[in-house]
Amino acid sequence: MSRFLIRGGTIVDGTGAPPVAGDLVVEGDRVVAMGEGAAATADRVIDANGLIVAPGFIDLHSHADLIVTLPPERQRVLQEGRLAQGITTEIVGNCGLGVFPASAESMIELRAIVAWMTPPDATEWPSPAWGDFASWSAHLESNGLWNNVGAMQPHGPLRMVSAGLSRPAPTPELLARMSRDLHAALEAGAFGLTTGLIYPPGIFTQPEEIETLARVVREVCGDAGFVASHIRGSSETLIPAVEELVGVGKTTRARVHHSHNEAVGRAHWGKIGKVLAIEEQARKSGISIAYDMFPYTAAATMMVAIYPPWALEGGVDRLLERLGDPAMRRSIGEAVEKTTPAWPPWTPDGWPHNLVKAVGWDLVTVGSVGSAANRRYEGMTLTELGRAMKKTPFDAISDLMIEENGVVSQLIHGISGDESHDEGMDALLSDRAGAVCTDANDFGKGRPHPAAFGAFPRVLARWVREKKLLTLQEAVRKMTGYPASLLSLRDRGVLRAGAFADIVLFDAKTVGSTATYAEPRRQADGIRCVLVNGRQVWPANAEVTTSPPGRFLRRGA
Ligand SMILES: [Zn+2]
Repeated sequence: MSRFLIRGGTIVDGTGAPPVAGDLVVEGDRVVAMGEGAAATADRVIDANGLIVAPGFIDLHSHADLIVTLPPERQRVLQEGRLAQGITTEIVGNCGLGVFPASAESMIELRAIVAWMTPPDATEWPSPAWGDFASWSAHLESNGLWNNVGAMQPHGPLRMVSAGLSRPAPTPELLARMSRDLHAALEAGAFGLTTGLIYPPGIFTQPEEIETLARVVREVCGDAGFVASHIRGSSETLIPAVEELVGVGKTTRARVHHSHNEAVGRAHWGKIGKVLAIEEQARKSGISIAYDMFPYTAAATMMVAIYPPWALEGGVDRLLERLGDPAMRRSIGEAVEKTTPAWPPWTPDGWPHNLVKAVGWDLVTVGSVGSAANRRYEGMTLTELGRAMKKTPFDAISDLMIEENGVVSQLIHGISGDESHDEGMDALLSDRAGAVCTDANDFGKGRPHPAAFGAFPRVLARWVREKKLLTLQEAVRKMTGYPASLLSLRDRGVLRAGAFADIVLFDAKTVGSTATYAEPRRQADGIRCVLVNGRQVWPANAEVTTSPPGRFLRRGA
């Protein structure tokens, strides 16, 4: 077993404890000794003089569900920006979106819904042949992973197996089947359930359905599992949507989690304080609620999300058909321009979150498209797209959606602030209940969100070094020990003798992100060395290229 020494660094152990000088001995996949004088005979010495030695970062919010199914060489290319920013563990299945379960009936629609997060070469999923959590995770284990990956059970595919993208509440039989499938995934090691209540089919889902499933999580996992939600709205409906999530925690006693806590659109930024106060109050009354957040004022998602729920009933193909019908197109366009979301949004003509109304056409940009012919539109705002195509922004994007068969992604700006006003982000980062996440991946097409390359280093640069809003140990806790505790991971997210050797070495004076919206594929600065299970993954090391060191993590591991 190889034994090596990380010598002379400053250890920030992930618990929030102040930095201490010390050495660290790694044997096999574990830390075996730590502290002053831990030095021992070693096969290899890593000089950490002047560097911070911290646990590897844990990203609760990845959408790499399909990336991690690819052959290891290809995964390496798409995961490089994550390894290079120190992410050693990530959780997929977020926002109610994912690839299991899949049935012959649900597969076509499921593929359309996850198209935006599908690398061009990931052609085998979703698939009934790999139709559940057990077969997907077994493939990951035998195929190989670069970092550690765990998964949540997404609500969308559960519902789509029997109901497709239809609106009606599930029949008792269907709800029983959804509960059974969820139960099986949780038993097999999923960390909980996620919902995506602004995406189909989550957008059609009524509170009773979510409560039934949350009870399953509580029953199977106790305090070790949780229900994470991309809540029903982050603009006009932000406050009632947060209250709905708190209510799920209250009535079911399941732990709840507010995915990418945010306020979308200038008029709503001021609500962040209220959201944090509601969540704090809930904790005081005994409800377990936490959140993650990404340190950017733009978010990546599917373009489908700009359309009203009624236009999405029946799925993406039905949306495209409706956009092809002139009268229908007119009413959809009017809805996008004029509808102000109101509560409750799950009524037949309700709409939880009108993204365009919240931020305006200027702040939505085309992320990626499927065809080479339309690649020139990538990076344009929808206003610019309209100008380029000599149409209104709505007609331009709708025609592009039809041409691309619905496979268009977007970047939406004006999330919790803008380049010159990021006080909302200050508030989200200051609260102890917030974990840092990326909510971004490089899917190998178009322009990815820069968070896929720099979210964690950006927090260390901007909010620790420049703004001095967070101490280094508190920022590291939000990236390591805290998310590990939310996942109930025993031996990860902290540095101590006995813990897994997921480690990042960085220079606190230079660490930072160089990725931009225009040039996102730029590796972070100042990250010197990253180990996953005791093996170096960054900088690239010949030793590991033949056998990737990541593990598939199951709840309770
Ligand atoms: Zn989301």
